[in-house]
Amino acid sequence: MLPSKQNWLDKLLNFGISEDSASNLNYKQVVNLALALLCVTDIGMMLVFAVQHAFQVVAFYAAFLALSLFGFYLHSRHYFSLVKLIVPLSTMVQIVVTSLFFFGVDSDFQWLFITVAAYAFTAFRPDEKVLRYSVILLSISLFSVCEVFPVTGVHLSPSQPGVVVVLTFLWTLFTLSVVISVVIARLRKVNDYLRILAERDELTGLANRRKVLTDAVKMYTEALFYHQPCVFAILDLDHFKRINDTFGHDAGDLVLSQISSVMRSCLNEEDAIGRYGGEEFVVIMRNTTLKEALEKMDQLRETVENTYITTEKGIVIPVTVSIGLAAISRHTKRYEDVLSLADTALYQAKKAGRNRVVSQPSIV
Ligand code: GH3
Ligand code: MG
Ligand code: MG
Repeated sequence: MLPSKQNWLDKLLNFGISEDSASNLNYKQVVNLALALLCVTDIGMMLVFAVQHAFQVVAFYAAFLALSLFGFYLHSRHYFSLVKLIVPLSTMVQIVVTSLFFFGVDSDFQWLFITVAAYAFTAFRPDEKVLRYSVILLSISLFSVCEVFPVTGVHLSPSQPGVVVVLTFLWTLFTLSVVISVVIARLRKVNDYLRILAERDELTGLANRRKVLTDAVKMYTEALFYHQPCVFAILDLDHFKRINDTFGHDAGDLVLSQISSVMRSCLNEEDAIGRYGGEEFVVIMRNTTLKEALEKMDQLRETVENTYITTEKGIVIPVTVSIGLAAISRHTKRYEDVLSLADTALYQAKKAGRNRVVSQPSIV
């Protein structure tokens, strides 16, 4: 099966980039993209001049095509800094020679220097200011040189410069939009990744305290707004300290991560669950009555009770959970009130012997 377009683009962007270079990824992808665009430009130019039988010019672009391909090779050998410099230098030489000697400055081909300046902004890191601004300054200077010398092209008929102007404009637009979209797509990915890291509990994979409390505020407000029932639950593993003391901290971690998956599997997509702290979890059930929540939580409690965690050494650890429930009502003015009632119910469940579900009676 042919790889999808996205896979091709990803493969191209990530060519020669190893796993450990994540911090430079964006810069390296821009360099790969620039090399690919240079190859396409050179092939296009070779075709244009081959049609005109200007084979010396074809050879000129073939040499730069070879240089770009060599750039890919160097990149795969991790000479990234060198490749990063080869790209703008090769582009600048090609633009100057093409403008002054092949097309003439009437063709406005020299406006492609904008892409070199854009490259300098996206391929050099902020701490590479000298290189970045040298390339930009050189682009501006060479552009000015091209504008100052009114050289007429030797390979264009009087009507052709107009066509080259339009093509130069379109190619500049295309190059800039591709580079910008690659950079934005990468920033989005990094942003999503950081958001996931900031909202997820590493050990259990569930939402962390901050995220679940944010969900709590949102779901509490929605329930009030739409006059829908909503139930908060606090779940606390029983005698967890004893599990740690008896089987070790690693076994405790294993219990936390496996029981978390079990609990998640007992809930609907609509329900929110998160690690509140230590061996305590919060569940928020939207559009659920207290009676329905009691049934659901009792099933969860039973499922946890019937789950035996087996350690690497083959030791089987039984686990139980106590659960306190409270529903939103006219007595609860803030989501914290509901959590506090659920906490009181949890305390009662513990006091009554653990491995049970209790709801705060005052709000039934
Ligand atoms: P109870 O039935 O009353 O809830 O008793 P408990 O032992 O579960 O409660 P306690 O609050 O006394 O102990 C909780 C323990 O959970 C203490 C702490 O060391 C342990 N704990 C908290 N976070 C982690 C963790 O990430 N990993 C491990 N292995 N243990 C943790
Ligand atoms: Mg506990
Ligand atoms: Mg606890």
